[in-house]
Amino acid sequence: MTDIKLYNTMAREKQVFTPIDPDNVRMYVCGPTVYDRAHLGNARPVVVFDVLYRLLRHVYGPDHVTYVRNFTDVDDKINATALASKEAGAKGSLEELVHERSDETIGWYLQDMGALGALEPDEMPRATEFIGPMIAMIKDLIAKGHAYAAEGHVLFAVESYKEYGRLSGRSVDDMIAGARVEVAPYKKNPMDFVLWKPSTDDLPGWDSPWGRGRPGWHIECSAMSYELLGATFDIHGGGNDLQFPHHENEIAQSKCAHPDAGFANYWLHNEMLQVEGKKMSKSLGNFFTVHDLLDQGVPGEVIRFVFLGTHYRKPMDWTEKKRAEAEATLRKWRILTDSVEPASSPSVEVVAALADDLNTAGALAELHKLAKRNELPLLLASARFLGILTDELGGWNWRTQVIVGSSFSSEDQFGAGIFSHSIELPSLAKRLHYARTVAMETKDFSTVDALKSILTEAGVQVRMSKEGVELEPGPDFDASKLEVLK
Ligand code: AMP
Ligand code: ZN
Repeated sequence: MTDIKLYNTMAREKQVFTPIDPDNVRMYVCGPTVYDRAHLGNARPVVVFDVLYRLLRHVYGPDHVTYVRNFTDVDDKINATALASKEAGAKGSLEELVHERSDETIGWYLQDMGALGALEPDEMPRATEFIGPMIAMIKDLIAKGHAYAAEGHVLFAVESYKEYGRLSGRSVDDMIAGARVEVAPYKKNPMDFVLWKPSTDDLPGWDSPWGRGRPGWHIECSAMSYELLGATFDIHGGGNDLQFPHHENEIAQSKCAHPDAGFANYWLHNEMLQVEGKKMSKSLGNFFTVHDLLDQGVPGEVIRFVFLGTHYRKPMDWTEKKRAEAEATLRKWRILTDSVEPASSPSVEVVAALADDLNTAGALAELHKLAKRNELPLLLASARFLGILTDELGGWNWRTQVIVGSSFSSEDQFGAGIFSHSIELPSLAKRLHYARTVAMETKDFSTVDALKSILTEAGVQVRMSKEGVELEPGPDFDASKLEVLK
């Protein structure tokens, strides 16, 4: 069996992955807070852990992996969004608007992540469906002396858990010095965090021994992972912005509630996404959602390919250049494998690259080698293993590309027939050459200029000389803009 190595944040080293039960490998990944469309950064953990899920399924068998990713549908941000729409005139109670908003957002999320080729996890629990287990866990923490109730709140006492701070490598004193913690009169220690808080009548709330209220964010994941995966499971993942405080708090709650269990054995964290070298933020004007990109015509497969190009533990930069390169490569590979049957399994080198702490960039390098060697069935099977070149993601206009000239030529790879349903650049080249010959006689270059500007507008590089006309699709080639010439 393939040895998988993963970088475990808790151990601060790459370790051989040994599942508790190879018949049921269990992974929990923190999912989104569902108040708005997922931005491009939110998609990064989805793609990273989708690749890990695919690898685990490959190695242990598709029926022997359980992947859980939650929806946080109790949160002040959702309440604020619902309140804003109520103030803008939306009908219904605040509680109804909160539900509507989270239902709608979950629908968008699944659609957008599906467009990136992400498989749906086996379980996608919503926090609101697990309030009972959360209350039970909080009661248990109080009974064990790890939490206390005060003024309608319940707080976790960080000093009651000696290992608090181990994941992020900080002591409680350092945290107090460095963090902007909320100081509240009901807290015994400023680092104590909320397990339960009171709700006003108009906000979503549930009856509890501490009055009507709602759970804190951290307890949601502790309760849902316990219910669905047990007190000890294999992998816990999320973005590295969640390491502290969210994951630290999850560990404190779960380990104190189940002192004999280990909670998660391997902690994996993806680095953040940036845009053109800068943090993605609304104030910098470089903030966009996955849906924005899809809407602009960037295929989901292209987004996924760009993500795969950077190792998950490195910051990843989304750039226009990478988008164009990814699109060109995918066009090339899709054309190459168009009528090819995939091999029965992916290349061992591709699997080995992923098994080495998810080296997706290394896996793509292997795909390039396969393409170069014309090992097309293996290229297709290996690409599909990574979630690209799949039938589901093939619905973009890659077919209309005609590649002529330098590195890749239709003539040397295929017979002429393959491009029969596309707009053929060679015939457009002939048309332009003819128009130019006529214009040399008549001195009227208007047709030549018109043709040339349509081609340039469509991202085609046009070179004209006495010998003829050469057309080559550039990185921004958009075949749909040539339709007018049909
Ligand atoms: P949130 O809804 O903010 O809790 O985020 C959902 C997931 O997206 C978490 O795993 C975050 O770590 C992750 N995430 C948020 N922003 C980024 C970013 N810029 N790059 C990568 N991951 C991110
Ligand atoms: Zn979580």
